[in-house]
Amino acid sequence: MKTVSIAIDGPSGAGKSSLAKALARELGFIYVDTGALYRSVGYQVLKRGGAPSDSVFVKKLLPDLKVELKYIDGSQRVFVNNQDVSDMIRTPEVSMAASAVSAIPAVREFLFDLQRETAKKNNVVMDGRDIGTVVLPDADIKIFLTASPEERARRRFLELKEKGIEASFEDVLADMIKRDYDDANRQTAPLRKAEDAITVDTTGNTFEQSLEIIKQIVQERLNERSGS
Ligand code: C5P
Repeated sequence: MKTVSIAIDGPSGAGKSSLAKALARELGFIYVDTGALYRSVGYQVLKRGGAPSDSVFVKKLLPDLKVELKYIDGSQRVFVNNQDVSDMIRTPEVSMAASAVSAIPAVREFLFDLQRETAKKNNVVMDGRDIGTVVLPDADIKIFLTASPEERARRRFLELKEKGIEASFEDVLADMIKRDYDDANRQTAPLRKAEDAITVDTTGNTFEQSLEIIKQIVQERLNERSGS
């Protein structure tokens, strides 16, 4: 049977991961956080003493990396060479490294099949930057999630604080603006809305309000799909 794919793209801090996760849980789909894949590569580059923007170093490293997604008690874990790196890849340093390695075409190619195959085998809610445009251009439903930079930085700042990671709001906002700019202006698979994606701006919404809006969009589309 054909699987169902829901693509959720947008800049960092728009609420993609928490909303995608909640949506996947309600639908009984698998949640795929593709940012974690880029983070795991960025993390490995830092761990081995390389610069994430050094494409020669990064390319040389790729054949040594076995990146896998596993689902443990319903939540995604990322393994690199059999080590669970899911918790180490959430620091601001790894965020910037992920953004830098993600601009290297060989890294995107390296992670492409894993993302495609996961969507082929499972009903998925997949979040990222290029899911609706490049990874799953035929996704059944595409949502482009956004919010103002200040609101996104505020959410990311609170998230880091909750995890006990020290950072100032100004630094989080500055990192976010730089990451947005780099993600939207890189040559390969830049962050942009797919033509057939529905934009949802979450500025000023509570989590529940945004989830409700997304659920409605998904339900309408799924109904149309089963009726056609
Ligand atoms: O979503 P998250 O903030 O974890 O992503 C980390 C970085 O990985 C992003 O800033 C972006 O540069 C990159 N990324 C990407 N394509 C994706 C997912 C993430 O380029 N599909």
